[in-house]
Order: sequence, then C-alpha cells, then structure tokens
Amino acid sequence: MSDELITIPVAEWNKLKQRATKLALDKSYQQLVMQLMSKMSEASGLDNVIDAMLRSIVDVIGGANLILYYKIDADIFYADVYGLKKHLQQLDDEGVISAFATGRASEYEHDFSDTRMLTAAFTNAYTWIYPLKVGSTVIGVFKMESLHIAMRDLYNQLPLFFNYAALVLKNEILGYTRLQDINNLLQQEIIIRKQTEQKLVAAKDEAEAANRAKSIFLANMSHELRTPMNAVLGFSQLMQRDTDLSPEQRETLNIINNSGRHLLELINDVLDMAKIEAGRVVIENGNFDLGALVLNTIGMMHERAEAKGLELLLDQSSNFPRFVNSDEAKLRQILLNLIGNAIKYTQKGRIIVRLTAKDLPDIRRCSLIFEIKDTGIGIAKQDLPFIFDTFVQVGRESDQQGSGLGLRITKQYAELMGGQVTVTSELDKGSSFTLTLTVTKVDQSEIINKLALDGKRVLGLAAGQPVYRVLIVEDQLENRLLLKKLMEFVGFKVFEAVNGKQGVEQFIHWQPHFIWMDRRMPIMDGITATQKIRTLPNGDKVKIIAVTASVFTEQRQEFLNAGADDIVGKPYRDDEIFACMTKHLGVRFIYDEPVNEKNVTGQLLNEPRLKQLPEELLSELQQAVMSLDVEQSLMVIEKIRAIDAPLADVLADRVTQFDFEAITKLLDWH
Ligand code: ADP
Repeated sequence: MSDELITIPVAEWNKLKQRATKLALDKSYQQLVMQLMSKMSEASGLDNVIDAMLRSIVDVIGGANLILYYKIDADIFYADVYGLKKHLQQLDDEGVISAFATGRASEYEHDFSDTRMLTAAFTNAYTWIYPLKVGSTVIGVFKMESLHIAMRDLYNQLPLFFNYAALVLKNEILGYTRLQDINNLLQQEIIIRKQTEQKLVAAKDEAEAANRAKSIFLANMSHELRTPMNAVLGFSQLMQRDTDLSPEQRETLNIINNSGRHLLELINDVLDMAKIEAGRVVIENGNFDLGALVLNTIGMMHERAEAKGLELLLDQSSNFPRFVNSDEAKLRQILLNLIGNAIKYTQKGRIIVRLTAKDLPDIRRCSLIFEIKDTGIGIAKQDLPFIFDTFVQVGRESDQQGSGLGLRITKQYAELMGGQVTVTSELDKGSSFTLTLTVTKVDQSEIINKLALDGKRVLGLAAGQPVYRVLIVEDQLENRLLLKKLMEFVGFKVFEAVNGKQGVEQFIHWQPHFIWMDRRMPIMDGITATQKIRTLPNGDKVKIIAVTASVFTEQRQEFLNAGADDIVGKPYRDDEIFACMTKHLGVRFIYDEPVNEKNVTGQLLNEPRLKQLPEELLSELQQAVMSLDVEQSLMVIEKIRAIDAPLADVLADRVTQFDFEAITKLLDWH
C-alpha cells in the first residue's frame, strides 16, 4: 500500500459528511423510537399504558406538556403527563377536533420573542397535534406542547412510533371495554343473584311464617276439635255406666260412641298429617312390652273383624322379642292403620298378622317384620304406586272409607323410625303390607311397670283408703263436669276452679291431694298455675296432672318443666284417668270386668254363674234367645241385672252383638 493521499473534492466530502450525519441521526432516532416502544410495553392496563406512553414520550422527546385525547365508544377522555385524567363532555381544542376529523397531523410554531424570557430555549417552541390511527380510524390524538424540535426533524420516525402507540392504545381500550363489559355483566349477575337471594330469603321467611301460622292453627284446631270430642265421648261413656238404660238407649249410646271415635280417628289423622308436614313430629323412643302392644292392638281390632265375620289371626314366630326400645305410640298407630285397612277392605276371609324377627350382627338389635295379609278387594297394579300419597283413595268409590291419609302417615312414621312399609297386592285376591323396623331388645327389668288396666271398669274406691280431695281446674263447663262426675262416681271429694288463679286459691284453701290441670284458661293458664302452686307450702306434695288437647310434644314438655307430674291427653278414656291416679296417688280401685272382652265374657258367662239365677228367669231368657228376639232378651236381662249386674252386662253385650249362640250353648243343660 502506498502512502499516497487520496484527495476528495470538497463538494464530494460535504455530501459524504451530510449522509453520514443523516445516518447517525436516523440511527439515533430509531434508537429513540425503540426506547419509546420498550418503555411503553412494560406497562399493562389502560391507565398504566397511557401513563407510560405519556411519560416515555416526554422523557425521550421532551416537551412542557403532553396530552392524550382518546375515545372509548362515543366518550372522549383526557389524560396528561401530570397524571390528570378526565372524562370530557366535549372537545374545544380546534386542532384536536380537526385531527380527530381528518386524521391529519398539524403543528404550529410559537414565537416567544415577545416574552421576557428571551433565552435560547424559548426562541423556538412547537406544538404538535398528532392523530393515533388504526387503519383509517382515529382512536386518539396527542397534543405535545412546547417542544424544541420541529416535527419535520422527527418525521421519518414518527409514523412508526405513533402507529405502534395507536395499536397499543386500541388494544388496551378493547381490553378495557371488554373488561368493562364483563364487569357490567358480573355486576348485573351479582345484582340478579342478590335479588334472587333476597327473594329466596323472603320466600323462606314467608314459608316459615306460614309454617308457624300453620302450627299455631294446628295447635288451636287440635284444641278446638278435641275438646268438644272429649265431652261427647266422655259423657256417652259415662252414660253407659247407667244401669237404668233401656236397650235402645244403650244402642244409641253405642252409636254415639262409635261415631265419636270414628270422627276422632279422622281428626287425629288430619292433625297427624299436618304435624308431619309442619315438621313437628318427634320420635319418642322408650322401652316397652312389644308383646302386650301387639295383643292390645289385635284385641282392639278383634271386634271390628268379628262384626264383619272376618277372622283376625296372629301368627308370631318364637324369636319375636317381647321387650324392645322404640316409639311405642307410633308403632301402635302403624299397626292399627294397617290392620284397620285390612279389615276395611276385606269382605270375607281372614286377616293374618304375621310377626317374625331377624337377628342382626349386633346381638342387642334385631329387625322386626310385621306382615298384615288380607283376603280382601286388593289393589290394582297401576294404583299401587300411589296408595302412600296424601288423600289418595283407589279402587271403586263405593269401597272407599276414611280420609286417604292413613297410609301416608303410616309410611312417614315408619320412615321417621328408620323402618319402611312395602306392599304387594292382587286385585280381588288380597293385599299384604309389610313393616320392617329395626329395634333394640331390652330386658324386662328395663321396663317401667306400666299400669295396664286393659279396659277394666272402675266401680269405686277400694276400702281402707283416705278420702282423697281432688281439684279440677278447667274453664270449660262440659269437661269440668265430665271429670267431676267421673271423680264423684268413684267416691272422691271434688273441688272446682274455672281458671288458674282460682285453682291456686282453691289449692291454698282445700289442700287437695290431686289436681287435674287444664292448659288453656283465661286469667291464668295451667302452666303458670302449676308453677305458682309448686312454690306454695305443700305445693311440692300435691300431684298435678296436666290435661291437654295439645298434640305438640314441646307443649307437653313445657307443662312437665312447669312442675306437672304427668300429662293426660284429651280426649281421654276413663280408664286412663283412673290408671293415672293409681300411678301417682297409689289409689286402689275395685273393678268390674270389661263387658266386651272375650276372656272376661268367659269368666262371667259360665254355667255356674247362670245356675245362680232363679229358674223362671232362666226359662224366660232361654225362650227369648232361642227365638233370637233382641228386645225380649234385653228385657229379661234387665230383670237379671237386679240380681247380678256384671252378668247382665255381659249377656246384654252378647245379645246386642247377636251372639245368641254363646248364651244358648250355656243354657243347654237347662
Ligand atoms: P283410607 O283412609 O282411605 O283408608 P289410606 O291412606 O289408609 O286411606 O289408604 C289409601 C287407599 O289405599 C285406600 O283408600 C284404599 O283404596 C287402598 N288400601 C289401603 N289398604 C288396603 C287394603 N288392605 N286392601 C285394599 N286396598 C287398600
């Protein structure tokens, strides 16, 4: 290589120099733009991106203020580099309006020469107005005030940067509006959900209020319905004790009593159902004699079956437990319902109650199976799925009797007790209902000795007892009178009070041994009166028994908490009343034997007893029964009553049941 210098003409050199300067400038502008872009891309979210955009432009390009006007839908917003953001009602900057309208940039140069700050910095100042476009749509406009650079110096690079800025902005606005939409949707959804929740809460409150109202109605109705029933049944029972009744009167009384009982069954069904629906049924488990329950239930149903000429048979397997823990009252009701139905819906043949038990791994528990099988009208296959529904009665209308609630209650009770009821049936052949129930076996010693009077009739007080004073606190005349008559009939000394307040006064005055206390009374209710009496001298000794028509367990509990010794439900049977007195006061009664019970009939209606009657009466009786003459027979029996009243009762009962055969057989020897 030679050391020779190449000489370049000056003009050429200047050109080269100019190109080099331009390249350097371009490079530095490109770097500038890159810098702007990277600064902007660090931010996210519309507001942050706008802030970053404004700050980076001012940082890199400079300027006294930088404003971005941008549109979201039809709304125009303002944001400046100092962080001020606002929603504009309208645009009033002509340059900006024009940029939005035409999509063209503009620039104006200020002449600061007339200012007093005649420094170099202010000699040239520019304001740029630059649209941000995506395609042909202007989405925003920058206004950059007091720059020291004319737009033309940056013009090559500006579109690149501002296009990028426009894209970023558009993206953010889109994201923002989408977010806004989603937010709105969410907001709406929250509002709807809140409204739904409020509606649900309101509906729940309403339902609860309705349920409460229903319960209150139920409590009232149970009282209103059962209280008069108590009088009807009680008085007709009381009248049955009258030995001077004519056969017709006795018959009429029987009808009143039976119809009353039937009505009570219906009322109880409706009340039970309402109780179930109000969620007020409570399972009350206790130890009891299952064997006795089964026998009593069958005993109660025997007469009905017999009256229809049906056989009611019990077939019990040897492993069927005698003493168990379960809900005795509900089990009794289930069995009464199922056996009752079997009798109702069978015209001829028999009803078999089959009892079996299956051992379980836990040897203290076992599964009981009660099968009630009849030879009755049966149920059509298509009706079977519905018979457990409320108010459902199937088959021929003429066959329907009752409320259509029995099976529903039965099923609900069984399920509440953890058991189940199933059915198989064939039309015109018969039905078989099966109750399966798991119970705990208990020992006889775990059973509180309940006084089962088994329908024995109390005739009076056994000798050698004090004269017991009994106070009856009851506002209702009929019921007070009924209890009074019952008490006086056996020989108690009776005092009365018509409300709780008077009851307390009577207690202080007469110091009774025993109080029958009604619950609902004016002036002072039975619960308050009981509480009061318990605080008085000797108030801890007197036996207080609540008499209530309430069907609610919790109301009963309230009475016990107030200090009552026990509760008798209205309507009560007189044997319950006397049993309760024996239990709490230790009173001893003398009993007649039940008139209708077969075994007792056997005990009374026998040859030796008949042989004690005068010959002529026996002949008259024989003649009357042989000719199947009810009236004549009853007339003779009335004569017998003067000599042997219990025997007369049994004879009259057989005659009214048209069971002449039983009497003629016994008179065969005559
Ligand atoms: P009801 O008060 O009418 O007896 P239930 O709920 O006890 O009401 O029974 C519902 C219906 O099921 C009855 O009306 C009857 O049609 C039918 N049913 C119940 N038990 C029997 C049965 N043992 N044999 C035939 N049909 C029965």
